[in-house]
Amino acid sequence: MTTNAYAPELEDVRRAVRASLAPFGPEYWRQLDSERAFPEALFAAMGRAGWFGTLIPERWGGADVGPAVASVVVEEINRAGGDATTINAQMAICGTLVRDGTDAQRERYLPGVADGSIRFLSVAATEPDSGADMSTLESKGRRYGEGWVLSASKVLISLAEHTRLLILLVSTEEGPTLFLLDEEDVGGALEVQPIEMITNRMTTSLYLDELYVHDDCRLGPPGKGLACLMKGFAPRRVLAAAEALGHARFMLDRSLAHAKERETFGRPIGQNQGVQYPLTRAYASVEAADLMRWDALRLVEADDPAAGGRSALAKILASEAAWETARAALTTFGGWALSADYHIERKLRDATVFVFNNLLLSYVAERVLELPKAY
Ligand SMILES: Cc1cc2nc3c(=O)[nH]c(=O)nc-3n(C[C@H](O)[C@H](O)[C@H](O)COP(=O)(O)OP(=O)(O)OC[C@H]3O[C@@H](n4cnc5c(N)ncnc54)[C@H](O)[C@@H]3O)c2cc1C
Repeated sequence: MTTNAYAPELEDVRRAVRASLAPFGPEYWRQLDSERAFPEALFAAMGRAGWFGTLIPERWGGADVGPAVASVVVEEINRAGGDATTINAQMAICGTLVRDGTDAQRERYLPGVADGSIRFLSVAATEPDSGADMSTLESKGRRYGEGWVLSASKVLISLAEHTRLLILLVSTEEGPTLFLLDEEDVGGALEVQPIEMITNRMTTSLYLDELYVHDDCRLGPPGKGLACLMKGFAPRRVLAAAEALGHARFMLDRSLAHAKERETFGRPIGQNQGVQYPLTRAYASVEAADLMRWDALRLVEADDPAAGGRSALAKILASEAAWETARAALTTFGGWALSADYHIERKLRDATVFVFNNLLLSYVAERVLELPKAY
């Protein structure tokens, strides 16, 4: 296994996460992937171990130990052959509620999110005609009595079938506005349709038509929905980077072992430079991206304005490192890379989820390099 020399102070956290993960090896994940199923047993175990409170303040039942710990949790899940989508969502999506919720909302929900009894897994922002461009939302909210009437059509929404709480972004007279929908209150009104995907991301379309909700469901100020979501972008990018690094390290570890064991022409395939060089380049990319991840975390934890640019770089570099490692793993395993038995093809599919970086490149170009704004 390639070593991880950074953040030695978090070695105890790594060991503890690995202990929580011990019953959930690659075969567990292979089965879930083939059934497109939710990782129920893993989710329950992570809740019992207390990991969901990582980013929740202690007064609402969390441990509040910070994004570096959260990043180790998701990295270790992926490094162990898993897919941290659900755990990442449960730890991080509640950040908007922590920062911008009312006390009543926080008291009602955060303790249950921290212990896993309430699932808070979804943000519904993307629409059929506004993907990257959030300035043209078709989903609407209009004031009505003491509340709002909401109509929305959303696509590519992760985990909406499995969550109790969901953040919905709609356009109101004041501008983009967030609502916190509780499935127990509005469940029947949400129509959710699965979208078949390359990976087990449990992604759906979501419709609701003329749903009345009380103003208590509004999350953050009217018109400030995008601003509220954006406050969480830097930590969420670092978690995405850590996830991508976990996938990369799983593939790299397996590839190195295979390169040393598998023999052709009377010698290990890893003796051939055609195998060595792609693996060494992948290793270099992973290590460089990991350094950027820790630098970004330092800035995120210090609430430094430079965290935005650094976290974007960490996500870009880590996702590219995972993609490069997938290619190196393909070369190393040859035809076996495509067999489900070796878990490489599944990890290769998982790595695709992180490669969409255009808007992050725009962010870095404008905010860090001070190039003219593209749009
Ligand atoms: C696995 C998965 C899970 C997702 N989960 C969620 C979720 O839970 N909630 C949610 O709201 N959304 C979710 N999304 C949606 C995701 O946020 C969108 O895919 C993203 O916003 C881009 O929208 P789009 O796919 O419609 O691409 P489009 O907006 O159609 O863009 C297509 C391509 O063009 C590029 N592009 C567009 N405009 C520009 C520009 N001005 N400059 C440079 N490049 C540009 C984009 O980067 C993209 O690569 C998920 C997506 C995936 C793949």
